[in-house]
Amino acid sequence: MTADRIDTLVILGAGGDLTSRLLLPGLASYLASGRAHPIELVGADRSTETDDQWRSIVATAFGSNPSPASERVLKNTRYVRTDVTDPTALTALLASCRGRTALYFALPPAITELACRALSTLPLPPGLTLALEKPFGTDLDSARALNRLLETMLPEQQLFRVDHFLGKSTVLNLLGLRFANRIFEPLFSSPNIERVDIVFDETLGLENRAGYYDRAGALIDMIQSHLLLVLALATMEPPASLAEGDLRGAMAQVLRATHADTAASRRARYTAGRIGDRELPAYAEEPGVDPARNTETLAEVTLAIDNWRWAGVPFRLRSGKGLGVARQDILVVFKEVPHLPTGLTGAPGPSCLRISMKPATLDLDLVLNGEGDPFTLERTALRARLRDGQLSAYGEVLGGLREGDPSLSVGGDVAEECWRIVTPILEAWRANEVPLEAYPAGSEGVAASASRAGSEDQP
Ligand code: NDP
Repeated sequence: MTADRIDTLVILGAGGDLTSRLLLPGLASYLASGRAHPIELVGADRSTETDDQWRSIVATAFGSNPSPASERVLKNTRYVRTDVTDPTALTALLASCRGRTALYFALPPAITELACRALSTLPLPPGLTLALEKPFGTDLDSARALNRLLETMLPEQQLFRVDHFLGKSTVLNLLGLRFANRIFEPLFSSPNIERVDIVFDETLGLENRAGYYDRAGALIDMIQSHLLLVLALATMEPPASLAEGDLRGAMAQVLRATHADTAASRRARYTAGRIGDRELPAYAEEPGVDPARNTETLAEVTLAIDNWRWAGVPFRLRSGKGLGVARQDILVVFKEVPHLPTGLTGAPGPSCLRISMKPATLDLDLVLNGEGDPFTLERTALRARLRDGQLSAYGEVLGGLREGDPSLSVGGDVAEECWRIVTPILEAWRANEVPLEAYPAGSEGVAASASRAGSEDQP
């Protein structure tokens, strides 16, 4: 892959939240990993920052993970003031870059689309690679249009649709767990599985991100972008290899078979409340929020996968902000055994497998003979702590980008499928066919099925 290596990484949107909070620390983790090769870093944004101000942003972000490689990058980095929607400014920016260049769009999705349109009018340097952040497009039509535009500009191998969940080591653990163990994969099918929950609940509220979040909401921000990819990894057929074509193909295939039950969807937003020692104002009163947009901070959808393996199994995806407990996991609930030998008593419920992202653990809840009376069944958990990957999720993403390996980026068809799956729900919500519920910040979220998600996994 040497020929595909990136020499210069240009971050468009250098002054933004993603850049300082996730991208630059991710780059530091990649640079410290020992697998990094020299790279030049350029920051571009429309503000009036100077080289020194940019270098101080980079220095702060690299601070907790210093390495000789990051020192070199810091010493040589530069800032270029650029309106990324202006073809003349982009031409000058590209002309100033050395060797094979990657443009990382750390920009709001609508600006990314405009920047791509501006780029499409220019002669592009050989080997130019584009890394596009999630959400890819702002709806199904815009994602399709963006894909068609990008196809006219560059080959697919030079397009990285970033979703950092694919770089999370616990998410990637699904591949090893499913495809390197005979004990799980044969059971991953409708005769054996009752239901699957994929939950990403946060205790954080809006965190001053109204500009982006109030136009996205939990369904687009988390379910459309991230959780559907987790679903795809958890349910796809075994790929022959993890090479880009095999992995993306297997993910696209299962997503094509996936459909939402719009009537079973739920949306809600938090009212004022307390989380630990923090008081959270109501979402509708957060600065920058337009309450009339009815943006949800909690979304829950139930999906069906219409294929031989999964027909009849409900997949419940849920994500919420401002909740009392952070829960980020995949819960697989197995079916009860067809017959319990007469003489065994107790009803502890079925076996469950839980893969948690935070803390990174794997729990297998088995039904075993109890401690006292050996004929009374109890649940017993086998727990493994999963080791963190060497790189942060963004470190993996940037490593793949730097090394020209698009395995962990999202295929164009996968990005469109994710939008296709949520579109009927978005339309039903916009038409007010599903009520917008309320939950106090710090609570478990909305009642019934949502509270089941927050419970101690008793299915
Ligand atoms: P921000 O709004 O914080 O940053 C965007 C940056 O782009 C700002 O510095 C902004 O400058 C700049 N910008 C906007 N328009 C232009 C333009 N025409 N020319 C040059 N620069 C411009 O957004 P985020 O960093 O939060 O998000 C960026 C992307 O990353 C989004 O797609 C988001 O979905 C994604 N993402 C963000 C995450 C996060 O935690 N922040 C997590 C995962 C993904 P100005 O301030 O002047 O507007």
